[in-house]
Amino acid sequence: MCIDVDRCRRGYVLAVVVLAAAWVVAPTALSRDVLYELIGLVAVAGVVLGTVVRAPRSRVAWLLTAAGVLLLVGGDAMYSWYQDVLGVNPFPSPADAVYLSAYPVLAGALMVLVRSRGAGRDLVGILDAAVVTLSLGLVAWIVVGAPIVAEQGVTPSSLLSMAYPAADVMLLGVTARLTFGRGHRPLAYRLLVASIVLLTVADGAYTLLGSTAAASSRWLDATWLTSYVLAGAAALHPTMVDLSEPAIQERRITGRRLAGLTLAILVAPTAELLELLNGTGRNLWAVLIFSTALMAVVLSRLQLALHQAQRAVRQREQLHDRLVHQSAHDSLTKATSRAHFLDAIENRLRALDAAENPVGLLYLDLDHFKQVNDTFGHAVGDQVLQRVVDRIRHVVRADDLVGRVGGDEFVVLVHDANSEGLLVDIATRLLKAIERRMQVGEHSLWLSASIGVARSQPGMDEPDELIRNADAAAYQAKSEGRARVQVFGEQLREELRERADAEDAIRRGMAAGEFLLYYQPLVELSTGTVVGYEALARWQRPGHGLVQPCDFIPVAERSSLICDIGRWALTTAAAQAAAWDHDSRPHTQMSVNISGRHLASSVIVDDVLDACGAAGIAPERLVLEVTETVPLDAPVMRAQLIALRRLGVEIHIDDFGTGYTSIGQMRNLPASALKIDRSLIALDDPGARELVALAVHAAHAAGLKVVGEGVETQAELSALQDVGCDLVQGFHLARPAPAEQIVPPSPASDLVTQ
Ligand code: C2E
Ligand code: CA
Ligand code: CA
Repeated sequence: MCIDVDRCRRGYVLAVVVLAAAWVVAPTALSRDVLYELIGLVAVAGVVLGTVVRAPRSRVAWLLTAAGVLLLVGGDAMYSWYQDVLGVNPFPSPADAVYLSAYPVLAGALMVLVRSRGAGRDLVGILDAAVVTLSLGLVAWIVVGAPIVAEQGVTPSSLLSMAYPAADVMLLGVTARLTFGRGHRPLAYRLLVASIVLLTVADGAYTLLGSTAAASSRWLDATWLTSYVLAGAAALHPTMVDLSEPAIQERRITGRRLAGLTLAILVAPTAELLELLNGTGRNLWAVLIFSTALMAVVLSRLQLALHQAQRAVRQREQLHDRLVHQSAHDSLTKATSRAHFLDAIENRLRALDAAENPVGLLYLDLDHFKQVNDTFGHAVGDQVLQRVVDRIRHVVRADDLVGRVGGDEFVVLVHDANSEGLLVDIATRLLKAIERRMQVGEHSLWLSASIGVARSQPGMDEPDELIRNADAAAYQAKSEGRARVQVFGEQLREELRERADAEDAIRRGMAAGEFLLYYQPLVELSTGTVVGYEALARWQRPGHGLVQPCDFIPVAERSSLICDIGRWALTTAAAQAAAWDHDSRPHTQMSVNISGRHLASSVIVDDVLDACGAAGIAPERLVLEVTETVPLDAPVMRAQLIALRRLGVEIHIDDFGTGYTSIGQMRNLPASALKIDRSLIALDDPGARELVALAVHAAHAAGLKVVGEGVETQAELSALQDVGCDLVQGFHLARPAPAEQIVPPSPASDLVTQ
């Protein structure tokens, strides 16, 4: 149905205003009655129209409201008929039956609203509404009921008189229930509540004034009319739909609600007091009964509040526990998280008896776990990790803490590690447990682990140190062939200390500008032209002379120090390339060696961009050399390589022949050249030469150029030339040298044609 809602609202207001104005100035009682009825009917129409147009979730509530108002208006009509047309006293008459039937209908409307707004039972709301109802009931009894009974005794007429205040109290009780219940309180809600309150106020005033005095009061009529009109206004207001929307959140007990309830509770004792002061014992019984009922309700209310408070505390505690557990445990294996594990070690180290009962730490690193993931997928890998933790738990004591500190690295904190022998014994049993066949779905797996063992020393209070020691031992176990246990001893301690010192020296050397780059040309075999240079790091270390990369690169590679070196090399080499450009040399390429760790980190792309940006050279001028042993096909690595390729940076696979890259794998590598390692080139046997020929062939088939590295002799050069190698590099052509010693290459160099 297409009805303009705003026009309805405007029409409603206009009709009400016009009719009300006419009602005010109407000359006769009859015309006033007719206008009064018309306004009432307009209000009923307003409620019905609002319900139809707004289409709230609960139409029943609003249609019941319309029915309630219609019954009231109908009662009014009958009342006026008896009084103004027939000229008889309308009380008691069938009009009362019509009037009184309006109240349960209106109460029903409000209850339907309460229902549609609340989710589940709301005992607190019910009890609070009961407090209000009882208190109002008591007031109604004292003010209206008791005087009527005292005057007329218990007759049908007196009972009918009392039925009105009783109906009002019931209606107000249900309104209180709506107010204390859940849900929004938009304007439509306020209008509806105001309508009900005005109705009961007018009813109360009518009863207090007495029918004859009230009949002539136009103010009372105006109040009733306002009540009807407000019901129509509520139904036409856009927020009326919110009234029947379910509300999840419970109403909080506000100060205002508490004050209202206190006031309601105080009604009984105040009434009692007034009775006593007046000396009339008339209502004493009533007050006593109401007070007892009120007390019962208030007590249940208190008990409920207490129960709710306890439940809230319990819920908060559970939530807290869950959060703590979550942060303290690895979600996959349920092993303790690294941070929590460190805390546990720290607590143990700081314990009073730590000196007598040293703490033991086992560092377990699974061997070749990457292969499990690569071969069977991550889902199987995850299950394997869970099983490994189960197996570890099975071997260690219940109070030993099992943690996960890396993808496939686990730690066990052993309490009371009185002897190293005990720890080695546990580690050996762990090793055996891990090595048992593992069945995951249809896959049978055989795993092994490298385990490092460390024990706390008196005075040790840094948990990191203990983990570092055990980790170093595990590392040692791995490098000595895996599947073994290694104890952290004096020798390892010495090595660690040396390593830390060496790292420190490198760091300080970098800061002091002691590092420099040597450059070695790459020559195109077919033309003899220098097409690029490889930048090779050197360290001019005071007191040590010129330190070669084999003495500091491996040290730096064990930490992020290698990334610092890589960044520095990129910046320096790019700047050198730009400097040579200004020398009006041919624009050659610049190769920089980048370690796998640096390549896997997300900073590499920025580092390359920064270096090129600072030097003012295009990224196409840069070549990153990555050794073959770096897992280039790992997802992180691939993503970085592709990003770099997009920039225009070239990737060369270094040291080919020293790792495991199969010739078939080449096709998928995001690289543009292959550098064949000197170890393959130097071999002077037909087998090696055939292998080189095969590699060159496969590389070409995969669209890669080939660089022959470490060419020391003319024979080696000729052999490479024979197999179709593209570029060469080596002492035979030029040794690596500082930038200032590099002579500008002449385009038709005779280097290769000697
Ligand atoms: P690489 O990348 O394979 O570099 C080639 C190495 O072979 C260089 O050793 C070079 O001096 C040497 N070389 C060149 N021609 C010949 C030859 O005809 N015969 C022989 N026997 N050797 C030759 P260098 O400069 O000592 O570098 C060693 C390794 O250190 C490099 O091997 C590279 O892996 C690494 N490296 C050097 N500089 C850096 C750097 O800035 N960053 C990183 N991550 N690694 C670097
Ligand atoms: Ca290289
Ligand atoms: Ca190399």
